[in-house]
Amino acid sequence: MPRKTAPQPSPRPFAYRNRTLHCDGADISALAEDHGTPLYVYSAEQISARFQLFEEAFKGQPHTICYAVKANSSLAILRLLALQGAGFDIVSGGELERVRKAHKAALTKVVFSGVGKQVWEIDAALKANILLFNVESEAELYLLAARAEALRIRARFALRVNPDVFADTHPYISTGLSEHKFGIDINQARAIYRKAGKSKWLDAAGVSVHIGSQIRKVDPFAAATARVTALISDLKKDGHNIRYIDAGGGLGIDYGTTAFNPAQQVQKYAAALSKGLAAESSHLIIEPGRFIVAQAGALLTRVLFVKKNGSKTFVITDAGMNDLIRPSLYHAHHEILPIKQPRTAAPSITADIVGPVCESGDFFARDRVLAAVKPGDLVLILDAGAYGMSLTSNYNSRPRPAEVLIDEATVKLIRRRETMRDLLAPEVL
Ligand SMILES: *Cc1c(COP(=O)(O)O)cnc(C)c1O
Repeated sequence: MPRKTAPQPSPRPFAYRNRTLHCDGADISALAEDHGTPLYVYSAEQISARFQLFEEAFKGQPHTICYAVKANSSLAILRLLALQGAGFDIVSGGELERVRKAHKAALTKVVFSGVGKQVWEIDAALKANILLFNVESEAELYLLAARAEALRIRARFALRVNPDVFADTHPYISTGLSEHKFGIDINQARAIYRKAGKSKWLDAAGVSVHIGSQIRKVDPFAAATARVTALISDLKKDGHNIRYIDAGGGLGIDYGTTAFNPAQQVQKYAAALSKGLAAESSHLIIEPGRFIVAQAGALLTRVLFVKKNGSKTFVITDAGMNDLIRPSLYHAHHEILPIKQPRTAAPSITADIVGPVCESGDFFARDRVLAAVKPGDLVLILDAGAYGMSLTSNYNSRPRPAEVLIDEATVKLIRRRETMRDLLAPEVL
């Protein structure tokens, strides 16, 4: 792709070599032979590189990068990140178990978010001595105090405040407005910290905020951080020993084909946070998910049929909305590439790329221009590393796909394909 500026670091690890698509050193058509389709393919190098962009951008201040587990909760990916020093943002007791299994020592770098924490989840997190509970309601705070007292373990917490900042993203993943279910009205926070101060089982250690996901402009991050910084200053005046500011996650990527420089984007983000932080010196926590894993992963699928209904052409693949729901759920755009690089003069078609699931909402792209494909051909759905596998289901009784992690030229199967036995295992007749 011609670019005006100097060569930019490619935001994706997928490129044609000898006219076949590769992920770093691995030939993708060989992956299909060895592991079948649909198959999630991830680049370890890309995941590490993205994580290191954040490390680099924030190296001037005390910080912990708590990768948001829900973006992609693969144990192998969690371990890869933990070994580089990552902490984790979790939203359930299940995610806590994933961190424990991936790298037990990382439990002390876990922050626990979510509006509906249950007793068993709070207890497990207290016993694991996690870094911080991000508390999302007054009622949750009192439950936390009660559980901390029962277990005689003091709970470090941050109130997740709702800063009433608008972030331009899909309504399902915007969270920072007072109309959303997330967090506590920032104007009520000071009074709640005051009440919490009366319990010796609660340690008001921080303040947290998270305004949403897939946010492309960094100004809302600056605005939200500035509001939290002002609150921290009030809380310190009130005598609270606030040590952590958790700025949440949400930095977006470019799913399309326009020039996008991840390093620059992270630098802009870091500058926006610094601006919001001003002179505030608390230990900074950030919770990026998508930005680290989305472009490191793709979904490989095989064309089953090409069919015409009236004037429309449908390319039917062996992956469906149960394997990647983002297009159906958010009308998300994903670039789709054929595994064999088309010749320049190759004919193209305009088609809907759809799955086998019995829903008209089961599509990956609509009216997409792509090189003509035929049954048996492989195509790669890009930028599927985040909210891809973690949002899969068994809808239509379809086994979940397998996952491979490419580390340079080494291919590691990190999750085997589900079997019929897996599918039926939990059921009782
Ligand atoms: C989902 C979520 C994140 C991660 O969001 P990304 O857009 O993937 O970076 C971080 N923090 C909280 C509290 C979340 O709910």
